[in-house]
Amino acid sequence: MSLTPEQQAEIEAARAQSAPTRRAVAPGLEAILYEAVPLLDHGFVRVVDYMGDDAAIVQAARVSYGRGTRKVSDDRGLIRYLMRHYHSTPFEMCEIKFHVKLPIFVARQWIRHRTANVNEYSARYSVLDREFYIPAPEQLAAQSLSNRQGRGHVLSGDEADAVLRLLKDDAERTYRDYAWMLNEGENGEPADPERQGLARELARINLTLGTYTQWYWKTDLHNLMNFLRLRADGHAQYEIRVYADAMIAMLDAWTPLAAEAFREYRLGAAQLSATGLQVVRRMLAGETLDAASSGLSKREFGELMALLGRGQ
Ligand SMILES: Cc1cc2nc3c(=O)[nH]c(=O)nc-3n(C[C@H](O)[C@H](O)[C@H](O)COP(=O)(O)OP(=O)(O)OC[C@H]3O[C@@H](n4cnc5c(N)ncnc54)[C@H](O)[C@@H]3O)c2cc1C
Repeated sequence: MSLTPEQQAEIEAARAQSAPTRRAVAPGLEAILYEAVPLLDHGFVRVVDYMGDDAAIVQAARVSYGRGTRKVSDDRGLIRYLMRHYHSTPFEMCEIKFHVKLPIFVARQWIRHRTANVNEYSARYSVLDREFYIPAPEQLAAQSLSNRQGRGHVLSGDEADAVLRLLKDDAERTYRDYAWMLNEGENGEPADPERQGLARELARINLTLGTYTQWYWKTDLHNLMNFLRLRADGHAQYEIRVYADAMIAMLDAWTPLAAEAFREYRLGAAQLSATGLQVVRRMLAGETLDAASSGLSKREFGELMALLGRGQ
């Protein structure tokens, strides 16, 4: 379960409140503010605060005094221009804060994005919940033979059953041991009065990487889009991709014009090397090229052809 009934009630209470403001609000994001989008088996992501909207990007780019009176089509054109030409600082004027519940192995990938402010649930101060990620059967894939960072075909039959059993048993066993080492009863007293119990900061070290953690994660729109471009990409691991996909939907709700430009110039776009560009120009001029005559390595040539939809 992603949320307990108490947590759900807290979210509903927060959503029931509103206050008048002179600040810019994004109606699309207001509609989903605080709501948790469930992900994986126990995770979620939700927006807990934000600053700015599409107009704030335009305002910063023009260094204007007010919200301005220009048309949406002007704003759209400017935002697309800024995105296309990597004029990024106006996007940094918008900020967003997420509350994320995620398995520790996903958190390790996520935390590599340094241009954010993070505060994580303290497993030194509090006891971690008995929740660990167990992949759905359709995600239980073998190691890819062609890509060392990827997955191959989905496991089936006895092997799939055995893997699922191991993942569950190991996670449950280590959690049981964690709870035993903590020796904490319901009311804060030792569960077994004959034992002292190990410190929380030490008891946790035996837990599996699938154990869920939580954090508040705040970043600006520019760095959010960098995160989403990398983590919504097909090369990213499925388990972090589902978070990125959900956050792209939130981006759509928050800054629809920036989100549209992001899809056009980042997410769906590709970058060519100088030699790659030459190859495209030569092909357009009618030359038939292979890896050897292209000036690219075999691998890069293959990647370029795949990008152009010309499988080798
Ligand atoms: C598919 C995939 C596979 C990966 N595989 C691995 C792996 O095998 N091993 C591994 O270790 N990592 C791996 N990574 C992590 C990757 O190398 C980056 O660390 C991560 O994606 C964060 O990207 P970033 O630096 O652009 O983001 P951020 O840290 O948010 O930085 C954004 C930008 O800010 C600038 N910046 C931030 N901090 C500094 C700084 N201290 N100095 C200079 N400039 C800075 C840089 O321009 C950077 O691009 C992988 C990432 C992906 C998406």
